[in-house]
Amino acid sequence: MSTAPQLSVVMPIYNEQDALPLTVERLRPILDGLGVDYEVVGVDDGSTDATPVLMQKIRQDWPQFRTIRFSRNSGHQAALKAGLDRAFGDYVVSIDADLQDPPEKIPEMLALARDEQLDIVYGVRGDRGSDSSFKRRTAGAYYWLMRKLVGKRMPNQAGDYRLLSRAAVDALKALPEHQPVYRLLVPWLGFPSGEVVYVREERVAGATHYPLAKMVRLALDSITNFSAAPLRLATYLGLVSFVVCIGLAIHATVSYALGSTVPGWSSLFIGMLFLGGVQLICVGLLGEYVGRIYSAVQDRPAYFIGYDSAEDHERDPGR
Ligand code: UDP
Ligand code: MG
Repeated sequence: MSTAPQLSVVMPIYNEQDALPLTVERLRPILDGLGVDYEVVGVDDGSTDATPVLMQKIRQDWPQFRTIRFSRNSGHQAALKAGLDRAFGDYVVSIDADLQDPPEKIPEMLALARDEQLDIVYGVRGDRGSDSSFKRRTAGAYYWLMRKLVGKRMPNQAGDYRLLSRAAVDALKALPEHQPVYRLLVPWLGFPSGEVVYVREERVAGATHYPLAKMVRLALDSITNFSAAPLRLATYLGLVSFVVCIGLAIHATVSYALGSTVPGWSSLFIGMLFLGGVQLICVGLLGEYVGRIYSAVQDRPAYFIGYDSAEDHERDPGR
């Protein structure tokens, strides 16, 4: 492609041989009807079924369909990262390949971003009726916890269906993250944003690739990406056990004075409590330092400039 397209659609694809043809069938007319230059970046996350062959076939009669293939399965967020890193568009929409995110919302997202000069448009799930109650409940807990960590800037129930401007994509690309969790990083950027509500549909074919183990990993990545709080757990436990230790030490001393104990019990008991408490506090102290080292290694920029009057003449008026 000689000039940059106006829109890139990034689609992580993993073992979607059944869903992909249906997705393409619904997506293509919508993109063709937009009247803008576009590209679709299909990221094959190391599929082991017929997906890669299928993608080559799709590419043959849909020149705007780019394919990127991973050598092995690296996960949904990694596939998203590759897509965002390599997309050329002025706006980039990320969408699942299983039609759970209705592509009909793409024109709405693009129009909203352009009309209101937004850098981010979140697709917000208005209704999760098609998800299992287990998925709904775990997702509810996940979003509750994440909003505690990132703050209310994170819209509730916003997954990875969203539109980003070139400025937002470049800001994300500049982050030195190895395991980015975009649904947290994007709100953290704090760029002007809007929302488009959509109904989460049922997966069109195939089965989810997010079994419990992957969900737990995403949750752990999300927490450790944004907070050193778990490291602090040892400090709190140590302080609590230290206080409890003082109470029990008094009890042991009184029992000893009353002569109602086996010889040696009091000293052993107090020694054990004391050591336990001290050890936990020391582990907590280490945790505090590890937490600070971690945030230094993450090396995230301290701020993003939203506006600088000196750059007025350089800014693309269309953005
Ligand atoms: N996906 C991926 N790599 C993985 C798992 C999933 O690229 O290891 C893709 C998958 O093809 C789909 C999207 O990520 O386009 C969301 O996955 P899925 O639909 O399985 O998750 P769910 O919607 O059930 O949370
Ligand atoms: Mg899905």
